[in-house]
Amino acid sequence: MTERQGGSDVGQNAVVAKRDGDRWRLFGQKFFCSNIGCEVALALARPEGAAPGTRGLALFLVRRDGPDGSRNRYRIDRLKDKLGTRAMATGEVTLEGAHAELVGAAERGFAQMTAMLNITRLHNAITAAGIMRRAVMLASAYAGQREAFGRKLEAHPLHREVLGQMAAEADGALYLTMRMAQLLGRIEVSAADAAELALFRVGIALAKLYTAKQAVAVASEAIECFGGQGYMEDTGLPRLLRDAQVLPIWEGTTSVLALDVLRVLSKGDALDALGAELERLHAPERGDVLDLARKVRLEGGDTGESMARRLAFSLARSWMGGLLGGAGVEVRPRDIGLPLR
Ligand SMILES: Cc1cc2nc3c(=O)[nH]c(=O)nc-3n(C[C@H](O)[C@H](O)[C@H](O)COP(=O)(O)OP(=O)(O)OC[C@H]3O[C@@H](n4cnc5c(N)ncnc54)[C@H](O)[C@@H]3O)c2cc1C
Repeated sequence: MTERQGGSDVGQNAVVAKRDGDRWRLFGQKFFCSNIGCEVALALARPEGAAPGTRGLALFLVRRDGPDGSRNRYRIDRLKDKLGTRAMATGEVTLEGAHAELVGAAERGFAQMTAMLNITRLHNAITAAGIMRRAVMLASAYAGQREAFGRKLEAHPLHREVLGQMAAEADGALYLTMRMAQLLGRIEVSAADAAELALFRVGIALAKLYTAKQAVAVASEAIECFGGQGYMEDTGLPRLLRDAQVLPIWEGTTSVLALDVLRVLSKGDALDALGAELERLHAPERGDVLDLARKVRLEGGDTGESMARRLAFSLARSWMGGLLGGAGVEVRPRDIGLPLR
């Protein structure tokens, strides 16, 4: 998807698809291609003469090799020198008439990519929950060994408080993410009703944006829990933080997803579905956060947009608190929040 002129603003995409008999060829540059050594990739491109914006984007499958084993026509201009996720190469690519197969109807390219994004956003949240769990596990184990001021770290009330907040974030991320997995599962087997569809639309954006942000906060806190040792590469902790830092960026940045939440909530059914879910779970502070959602909706315009992140974080926190409470995990609402206090 991502080209130099825009990752969030995919409607600006400029890669062109040209007809070549009954086949297609792609021309132009893609600025971020992860897993660059892959055998097949999906790419958005604009067929010649198609409409501007996302409406004119079609989805194509690009194979690395032709049927005779020859390389397809694209060039890897360079590999990115990244902060993290270094085990997976990301490259910049120039498509030089690459052979491509149209996937689905040409005018449904972006819609099809959106369906894929729901899955990658869920994977992002799963990774965030996993990173947080690992950070909590390592910090807790260390606290049981390391002594300061004549006591194990875990015996210090303030350190226990820090570990408790980290664990609440990790638990909350897992429960919210698994709720999304449950909803997506029901959608995929056509068992979801209209309310569940609306709930997933808003929930997947909330789950992705909130867990990603918290993974960075929790990984950073874990480093601090190890003191100076946490800053050392050979502990593996710096890598945890570097890898976590990509989670809020790809698959939709925090602000872009918060605006998405706002857009979805502007349709009454999503807010009703979310309200019913929070009520069912007796979610903490549900009255206040739903009031805030109505206020932001009413406000609209620039003021509404500027409040989108605050609203999204409040909704996610309340939802997570409700899910944890319903599962019998005791959590104080103040334990969940950004940044870790
Ligand atoms: C390691 C890595 C691998 C990647 N792999 C892939 C890949 O395989 N395929 C792919 O397609 N992309 C990939 N990406 C690209 C990634 O999806 C984009 O970087 C991301 O979508 C953001 O787009 P951008 O970089 O153009 O930033 P921009 O869209 O320019 O955003 C810059 C900042 O502006 C903010 N912003 C943008 N619009 C608004 C708005 N309306 N209101 C408020 N704030 C706004 C954003 O939140 C962000 O903080 C990868 C990125 C990384 C880091």
